[in-house]
Amino acid sequence: MLEKYDLHCHSTASDGSLTPTELVLRAKNNGVTHLSLTDHDTVAGIVEAQITADSVGIKLIPGIELSVNWQNKTLHIIGLNINPDFPDLSQGIAALQITRKTRAEKIAQKLAKKNINGALEGVKQLAGKGMITRLHFANFLVTNNHVETQQKAFDKLLGKGKPAFVTTQWPELEIAISWIINSGGLPIIAHPFRYKLTASWMRRLLSAFKELGGVGIEVVTGRSSTDDIHKTGKYAKDFGLSGSVGSDFHSPDNVWVELGRLAKLPADIKPVWHLLK
Ligand code: AMP
Ligand code: MN
Ligand code: MN
Ligand code: MN
Repeated sequence: MLEKYDLHCHSTASDGSLTPTELVLRAKNNGVTHLSLTDHDTVAGIVEAQITADSVGIKLIPGIELSVNWQNKTLHIIGLNINPDFPDLSQGIAALQITRKTRAEKIAQKLAKKNINGALEGVKQLAGKGMITRLHFANFLVTNNHVETQQKAFDKLLGKGKPAFVTTQWPELEIAISWIINSGGLPIIAHPFRYKLTASWMRRLLSAFKELGGVGIEVVTGRSSTDDIHKTGKYAKDFGLSGSVGSDFHSPDNVWVELGRLAKLPADIKPVWHLLK
């Protein structure tokens, strides 16, 4: 059978709109053979995803997308094939739950100063038991007609430097990588172009990441252009990193991104799944 990998997506355990079960079924329907669920700072969806994956015959790779701090920048690091029960990681996640809760309260306070009330209750309702993210705030702001689109919510209020932005102390890159490695997982840089790094900062990051034990970089994402893939592929080769592919799917409402709908990893890039045992 032809293998189809999608190693980055979100469920209702964080800011995805599908439950882990719905997500796995949709992936299966789209012909995905290997799926990694990588919710933001939580592994709460993995047990359910695993049960569904087993029942429909799709390989579920336990994952996480950790928010990390590096040189005063926020980055996202995928931990692929982690053991969700490993103590260091569990403790780290428990702390992140508090970090995100406190941050949500602060974001809501800043929104209140802009005469936008009820945001905390609103996002709690949207997130349910899941981790609260800025995407929940964006959806709250759209639903309540404070802004027209998710993008405008970030551009006007939630993005870096905007009135409701809250600087957050995420775990340091080094610490997050150690949680991933010690729990048996592979650290991978998510969507490398989302951080708007200059070429020299990108090289600094890749060299630090490699030094700390990082093994992969997302060469193909759901929104990558041919040029992005080419550039990231070159970074992968220059720094001896394997290439990952992941849609970063959040919701069927976003018609631009679909589970399993990904360009091919270029043939000269080592696939990160060769490192999975
Ligand atoms: P957080 O980790 O809480 O800061 O939230 C980040 C999440 O918000 C990302 O994972 C995306 O799902 C979403 N996000 C960030 N920037 C944007 C944007 N410009 N437009 C739409 N969604 C975004
Ligand atoms: Mn997200
Ligand atoms: Mn991300
Ligand atoms: Mn993501």
